[in-house]
Amino acid sequence: MQSNRARLDRFVSEKTGVNRRDVRLLLAQGRLLIDGKPAQAINQIVDQFCSVFLDDQCLQENQAHYLMLHKPAGVVSATKDDHNPTVIDLLDHEARGSLHIVGRLDFNTTGLMLLTNDGRWSRALTQPEKKIPKWYRVRVEKALTEDYVQAFAKGLYFSYEDLTTLPAKLIIINPYEAELCLFEGRYHQVKRMFGHFDNEVLALHRFSVGGLELDPELLPGHSRVLSAAELHHLAALVS
Ligand code: URA
Repeated sequence: MQSNRARLDRFVSEKTGVNRRDVRLLLAQGRLLIDGKPAQAINQIVDQFCSVFLDDQCLQENQAHYLMLHKPAGVVSATKDDHNPTVIDLLDHEARGSLHIVGRLDFNTTGLMLLTNDGRWSRALTQPEKKIPKWYRVRVEKALTEDYVQAFAKGLYFSYEDLTTLPAKLIIINPYEAELCLFEGRYHQVKRMFGHFDNEVLALHRFSVGGLELDPELLPGHSRVLSAAELHHLAALVS
C-alpha cells in the first residue's frame, strides 16, 4: 500500500503544479488551510484524512471510515472474488469501494470483522507485536480435555512457519465447545491448533477483537459504523 503521508510542500506541489519554493509563499500568505486552520510549517505532514484547501480550492477531503460487520458463513474475506460473495459485497456503505478488511476470517467462519479505508489503523491492529486479543467460540468434533488447555497455553509448534504459537487461553464450556483467546493471527490458526489433536473444527465464530465485542443486535451479514467510544477504545490499544 502506498504511503498516505507527505510533507505539505510536496503535497501542494503535486496537487497544483506550483513549485515547492512558491508553496512557501502560499504558506506565508496564509492561503493554505489544513483541517480548517492555516497551515503552520512547510514540512507539516499531510495525511490521507487531512482536509487541505488552497484558498477556496479543495486539494483533498477524505473521510476515514471504520465499520464492524457480522460476517456470515459462505462469504470470502477479500475485496474481490470471482466465485463467491465477499464481505465488501455485503456492505451498503457509500464508501464501500474504498474499504479493506482488517485481518481475515475463513470462508465458513462467522463473527466480528472490521473494515476501514485507513491503512495505518488496520496495520496497527494487525501488527503481531501489538498482541491484540481475539476471542473465538469454537465447536469441535471430539471431546476436549485439560490437555488442550495446557498445550495451547504453552504454545504449539507450527513446522511450516518454524515457530511456536503465542500462549493462548482456552476455556472449555462443554466437552465439544470452548472459547479461545489468541494474541496473533496465523493462517488457519485455530483449525491448525485443534488439528494438532486431530480434532476437526466444526464451527468457528469470532466474538471480540481487542475488547471490542460484536454488537449482539447486528444480524449475520449486517454492518454498522463504529461509535466514537469504540474507536477511542481501539486507538488506546494501538497507540
Ligand atoms: N483461525 C482459523 O482457523 N480460521 C479463522 O477464520 C480464524 C482463525
